[in-house]
Amino acid sequence: MTHPAFSSSYSAARAHFRRAASAVKESRLDSIPYPAPGPAGEELTTDIVWIGPKDAVKVFVTASGTHGVEGFCGSGAQIDWLERGEASRLASDTAAMLIHAINPYGFSWRRRVTHENVDLNRNWVNFAALADKNQDYTEIAEFLCPAEWTPESCKSAQVQLDAYIAQHKFAKFVQTVSGGQHTHADGLFYGGTEPTAAHLNLKQIITQRLSRAERVGIIDYHSGLGPAGFGEIISAAFSGTDTYKRTREWYGANVQPIGTQGAEFAKIAGDWLSAVPDLLPHATVTGVALEFGTVGPLQVLEALRADNWLHTRGDPQTHNAETIKAQVLNAFYTDSDAWQGMVLGQSLLASRHAVAGLAL
Ligand SMILES: [Zn+2]
Repeated sequence: MTHPAFSSSYSAARAHFRRAASAVKESRLDSIPYPAPGPAGEELTTDIVWIGPKDAVKVFVTASGTHGVEGFCGSGAQIDWLERGEASRLASDTAAMLIHAINPYGFSWRRRVTHENVDLNRNWVNFAALADKNQDYTEIAEFLCPAEWTPESCKSAQVQLDAYIAQHKFAKFVQTVSGGQHTHADGLFYGGTEPTAAHLNLKQIITQRLSRAERVGIIDYHSGLGPAGFGEIISAAFSGTDTYKRTREWYGANVQPIGTQGAEFAKIAGDWLSAVPDLLPHATVTGVALEFGTVGPLQVLEALRADNWLHTRGDPQTHNAETIKAQVLNAFYTDSDAWQGMVLGQSLLASRHAVAGLAL
C-alpha cells in the first residue's frame, strides 16, 4: 500500500503539496513557472511555501526534485512534514520554506535531468574556468550511451563497460561516469556550459527570500544511492571546517562529507548546496543532502542509460517508452510500506534535528 503522502505523478504531487501547504496556518504559497512543458503539455512550476514570520532570522528550508524523478521521494517527505503539523513546532523567530520540485521537468517526465539534459547538481560551477576535468568519460561515452538500445547493443556495450571496470576498479568507473562532465551535451551526468533554467529559478528563490535570514538550515532530498531505505546525511562542507562541525552537532556523527560514502558515490563538483553560502554571505548556512537508497548502483545506471537513449535518440512519447519510464521510477522510488516508512521516519527525524539546530 502506498502511503498517502507519496504521489503517482508530478501533477498529483504538486496538487497535494499545494493543498497541504495552504492548510498550514501563517503560510504563503507561491509558484515559479518552468519554461518547458510536461508530457501531457501541462504547465510545470516550482512551488514554494513560506510558513511563519516574513522577516524571520532563522529559516528551515527543504527542497525536493533537484534531480527530477527523485521528487517522488522528496515530495512525500515534504507533504508528510506539512500534514503532520510539524510547522507548529517552529519557534516564533523561525520560519520554514519548502521548495517543491526544483526541476519539475525531470519530475514530470520521470527523468533525473532538466530539459537541457543537465544534472542540476553538476551545474553550479564556474563556467568561465571550465576545463575538461573528465576526459575519462570520453573513453566510455559511446558505450554508456549507445546509438541503439536493443538487447544486442546493450550486451555489447556492457562487455566494454565490464572491461573498463575490471581494468580500473568500480570506484573509478563510478567517478568517471557520475563525477560530472561538461563536454557531452547528450551524455550522462552532463553539467552544462551555462546556468540552466532551474538553476536560475533556485538562485532567485534563495537570494530573494532568504535576504534577511541570519541562520539557515537546509535539507535537500535525494534518492537512488546507498542501501535501500537508508537515509545518508551528506554535508556539502569539507571535514574539519566549522560548518562541518556544526552539521555534526545538529545531525550526529553519521553525517559524512560529500564523496566519502564509498564506491557507489562519486566526488562531484557543482552541487547547489555548496553554492548557497556564497549566495547568502550574511547568513550561517547549514545544508545537507538526505540521500535515500533504493536499488543497486548498476540497476540505477542502466535505467539512466535507457532514459538517456529514449530522450536523445528515441521518442519518449511512444507507447514503448513506458517500460523505460517505469524502469527509471523504480530506480529512484520504492513502492513498499517499509521503504516509505523509512523515508518518512528518517526525514521527520532530520527535520527535527534541523529545527532544533537553528535554535542553538
Ligand atoms: Zn539526487
